[in-house]
Amino acid sequence: METETEMGTTGRDKEHMAKEIMSKEITPKGDDYSQWYLDVVLKTELADYGPVKGCMIIRPYGYAVWEHMQADMDRRIKETGHVNAYFPLFIPKSFLEKEKEHVEGFSPECAWVTVGGGEELEEPLAIRPTSEAMICSMYAKWVKSWRDLPVLINQWANVVRWEKVTRPFLRTTEFLWQEGHTLHATEAEAEEETLKMLQVYRAFSEEVLAMPVVWGRKSESEKFAGALRTYSIEALMGDGRALQAGTSHNLGQHFATAYGIEFLDKDQQRALPWSTSWGTSTRMIGGLIMTHGDDAGLVLPPRVAPYQVVVVPIPPRKGDWNESVLPKAREVVQTLRGAGVRVHLDDRDTQQPGFKYADWEMRGVPLRLEIGPKDVEKDQCVLVRRDSREKSFVPLASVAEQARGLLTSIQDGLLDRARRFVADNTTRVSTYDEFKRVMADKRGFIVTGWCRAADCEAKIKEETKATVRVIPIEGTPAAGACVRCGQASSSEVYFAQAY
Ligand SMILES: [Zn+2]
Repeated sequence: METETEMGTTGRDKEHMAKEIMSKEITPKGDDYSQWYLDVVLKTELADYGPVKGCMIIRPYGYAVWEHMQADMDRRIKETGHVNAYFPLFIPKSFLEKEKEHVEGFSPECAWVTVGGGEELEEPLAIRPTSEAMICSMYAKWVKSWRDLPVLINQWANVVRWEKVTRPFLRTTEFLWQEGHTLHATEAEAEEETLKMLQVYRAFSEEVLAMPVVWGRKSESEKFAGALRTYSIEALMGDGRALQAGTSHNLGQHFATAYGIEFLDKDQQRALPWSTSWGTSTRMIGGLIMTHGDDAGLVLPPRVAPYQVVVVPIPPRKGDWNESVLPKAREVVQTLRGAGVRVHLDDRDTQQPGFKYADWEMRGVPLRLEIGPKDVEKDQCVLVRRDSREKSFVPLASVAEQARGLLTSIQDGLLDRARRFVADNTTRVSTYDEFKRVMADKRGFIVTGWCRAADCEAKIKEETKATVRVIPIEGTPAAGACVRCGQASSSEVYFAQAY
């Protein structure tokens, strides 16, 4: 009997068995979406629960995803003229209290330090829920003249918001994020900055995470505490609910007033600057999981995958894999690495290839490269896509080129697939009955008219759990009537149930 055939058959059977075993560990999406999500997070070792409720441990595999996201976002933030700095974790109570709306918005979720070094502190210290209070206080000291503007600073940090209901990545008490804080001489400049960063977030989400978003302005009830105007990007998750994935705020002159930031303008007149803030967080990882994941587990877009290719060497049935398979596999790894591909060689001799296939499939590695004795003889290998499971035989001479081509195709394919999902789950409605029916049956985005009245919005939320996600700021506004009360609506808005 030909070794390879038998090896192939055995390998295939084991592959199926292993798949069966592993897939049982992840609850199918259709059975229980929220359990599916938790299974994916825990079993792929992205994160684990910590001893304090709502505080997760981001495990190495999850942290590697974050590092790739962070590196790309950091580059975009710097390319738009910003610099990084770091501000303290503790904010004195009196600092936080200077902006009234801001403190009212954040105090219910603030954690306080009241004892330090065994002694009661004279003034309680808030663990930052966000850093406007700290950063604006420093800006008041640093900014004197129009020559000091604009101030364009970003910080990468952790923040704490005491949450009652938590879920890894999506809503955690402590999370990692970046927060940009800028000062400008005019309202127009501040508004331009706010919208510029919203577009940076939109581009990052689509180009890097392959996560399509709708974007626009928030309604008054959903805006940031203390902001003049809030804008956000919103992605649609597999269960038809929207995830706010990034926000950008024009803070007006509220914070400059509250924190005493003043500058002398070109005419030597005292003036108040305009400020903005904008942020994205580890929450985006939750969006990534729910945008692309399937019943087998994670599906990672190549741009953020810790390993873009995993090489699984298939040992010969008889003899030693050190003789030809493993050296050849190492050679392929070097070739791929040389071509800038993030590659991992799974040379564990404690696991069968079938187990490894299922394991890396669950972890969402975009491409699996199999190489066995027969492949070595033929100077070829097998590449298997995670997204479509499509298999191709590739000559080793062109493996780097082929792998890179496939990675690009996977990245683009994931975005296309996610865009189709959003299109299929966006419904334009004109009656409230239809609105209620869609929200009860399939959810997703609903595009319709809204009168801009807060009480009407509140009623819609109460009756359908849906809120205004964004008021689009681009395109031709379609004027019409409010879906609930029939009053005039200046443009259509996006509704959805939200995370
Ligand atoms: Zn209305």
